[in-house]
Amino acid sequence: MMSMEKPQRTSLVDLDDEELERQLLRKGHLYPTESTLGHRLFDANGNAPISNDERMMMIDQVEQKYAEIFDILRIDRNDPNSTDTPFRLSRMWINELLAGRYTPAPKITVFPNRKHVDELVISKGIKVMSVCSHHWQPISGTCAIGYVPRDKVIGLSKFTRIVEWFSRRGQIQEELGEQIADFLVDMLDPIALGVVISSKHYCMIARGVEAHDSSVMITSVMRGDLATNHVLRNEFLQLIGEQ
Ligand SMILES: [Zn+2]
Repeated sequence: MMSMEKPQRTSLVDLDDEELERQLLRKGHLYPTESTLGHRLFDANGNAPISNDERMMMIDQVEQKYAEIFDILRIDRNDPNSTDTPFRLSRMWINELLAGRYTPAPKITVFPNRKHVDELVISKGIKVMSVCSHHWQPISGTCAIGYVPRDKVIGLSKFTRIVEWFSRRGQIQEELGEQIADFLVDMLDPIALGVVISSKHYCMIARGVEAHDSSVMITSVMRGDLATNHVLRNEFLQLIGEQ
């Protein structure tokens, strides 16, 4: 007789989110830090570029695991709508939703601040398309970035590339804003920098509290003079307005 392995997490199924997080946090550091194939495992919002061969192998392996999940969920893959779905899911996660984990940082050119610009330079309405680390549900929103240059300026379109590179990972919005800010501080050494993100979290809309899809989460990161100078901060917030 086949012995069924006892499901270990059944007791967690009925817990509310808060209690679930408490229980899981208590179990921290129980997992390996290296994959079964010997690769270093890293945070969901980390980055370690892979080769094309590694990518192909990863897509193949994840497809097989999705096929197992379909089996467990009793989804018949003879249904033409499901036949290729494990492959679609695998390719989507690796090449799109988690792309920022596996690709190198975008090439960013900075220019000298020849005219000694010392006022706010702002780009807003930058697309944020991310995935929450906790539930693997989409985070969709916009980001506004403002800075006061010191010796360097950056092409504004580069903000889009940077936000995309950090967003296409498993994220929590708080850390996404900090990562973008750290990267720009390293690159520009600005006098002031602000990163404001406003997003809808589908883990709050499709499940859990089932919030209305107009509910948004707003986070802000202020560095340098934007952290200390309230007149400048107010000017920045006024200029970016309702995101
Ligand atoms: Zn979530």
